[in-house]
Amino acid sequence: MRKENNVKGDQRSKSALSGSTISWTNDLSRHRIEGPAIKAKDWGMSNDSTIAVHAGTMDDDATGAVGTPIYQTSTFVLGDSEYTAVEEGHARDKFIYTRYGNPSQWAVQNKLAALEGAESALVFSSGMAAITATVMALMDKGAHVVASNELYGGTYNLFNHEFPTFGMSVDFVDPTNYEAIEAAIQPNTQILYFEVLTNPLLKLIDIARLAEIAKKHRLRLVVDATFVTPIGCKSLALGADIVIHSCTKYLNGHSDIVAGCIMGSRKLVDMVWPRLLNYGGSLDPHAAFMLERGLKTLAIRMNAHQDSAFKLASYLASHPKTSSVRYPLLKNYPQYELGKTMLKNASGMISFTVEGGDEAAKKLASLLKLSRQATSLGGVESLVSLPFNTSHASSTIKQRENMGIMPGCVRMSVGIEDGEDLIADFEQALAQL
Ligand SMILES: *Cc1c(COP(=O)(O)O)cnc(C)c1O
Repeated sequence: MRKENNVKGDQRSKSALSGSTISWTNDLSRHRIEGPAIKAKDWGMSNDSTIAVHAGTMDDDATGAVGTPIYQTSTFVLGDSEYTAVEEGHARDKFIYTRYGNPSQWAVQNKLAALEGAESALVFSSGMAAITATVMALMDKGAHVVASNELYGGTYNLFNHEFPTFGMSVDFVDPTNYEAIEAAIQPNTQILYFEVLTNPLLKLIDIARLAEIAKKHRLRLVVDATFVTPIGCKSLALGADIVIHSCTKYLNGHSDIVAGCIMGSRKLVDMVWPRLLNYGGSLDPHAAFMLERGLKTLAIRMNAHQDSAFKLASYLASHPKTSSVRYPLLKNYPQYELGKTMLKNASGMISFTVEGGDEAAKKLASLLKLSRQATSLGGVESLVSLPFNTSHASSTIKQRENMGIMPGCVRMSVGIEDGEDLIADFEQALAQL
């Protein structure tokens, strides 16, 4: 039996799937063999559109198939090096069991890391699984987080409803008021948690400025960059310690899977990995394949989203029945200058207010033909949603107004349809109001 395992272990070490020798040390500056992926640097790739296609993607040595095979397996044959990895505590380097790691996950992780400019990436079964594992890994019992008062509902609920069980607490602050953010820091604060572009008001946070505050107070800065993607900005280069994405949205881009990821230094990602094992939110190999396939077109999709969104936002800004149109490329966007320096792509998220309040907004949504009413965002198809009956349904009208969400607020996730077609659709719908 033992001999059998040895033989299999030896065969594995010769296959395309394993690296050469693992040189393990206990210090975290070690260089890990990162699996079977093509490295961005190997092909001299420096542009996002090229990286999106090639980085991480693994051609199959056994058959010559172009692209990463789907490793639809729950478990892997164990050899000496796997037993050693488990014993010595570097099981993340080996394929042992799919909750721990799988080649389909590694391929997409390497693509994501190359796009974000990260040392390490981890994929999860949802954005929320990624967020939960991250904050639980970076916070001790009794710790405090300073977070944006405009957060994704699931994150808000996690902080508000789950933290007390662990003696953890949170203060929510205006994400653009840096004095208030600094003032909210307490002796037990461990992380600053912000979304790069908020929903639905599209407030942009200055990552570099928050990173300065984090450094000064020896905190970790965690940002959720779902709305901007790595094409829009490189959060880690700007100073974030960990960047999180709901891959369900733009990264996969086709509204057909739920997934999440985190990226950062190997040291921090290694701290989060045991939480992935404990909480169990691992990404199925087939979904990993879907995500990798979706990512190949990320750069060109983001250009198309931006193109159509800018056209539609410009049209809405000039329409007499709409007001407060928010889009980072519009001259009247409150943080236009910051957007110009921070964002390489403004994505496809728009919000605006329609004359006649929430009832008019509801009517408008029902009159649109191309844009379907659905929650979620970032897919190739345009989606329309109303904060009053979706993301902010649990707030009162007064609370929404205090946040700046006025009656009649509409949020659009502009897809990659032609901008002129989207405008024509709005034209007919607005004319009926
Ligand atoms: C959707 C979303 C999430 C949660 O992601 P899931 O994949 O749905 O779990 C987190 N943050 C933001 C900004 C989101 O839009």
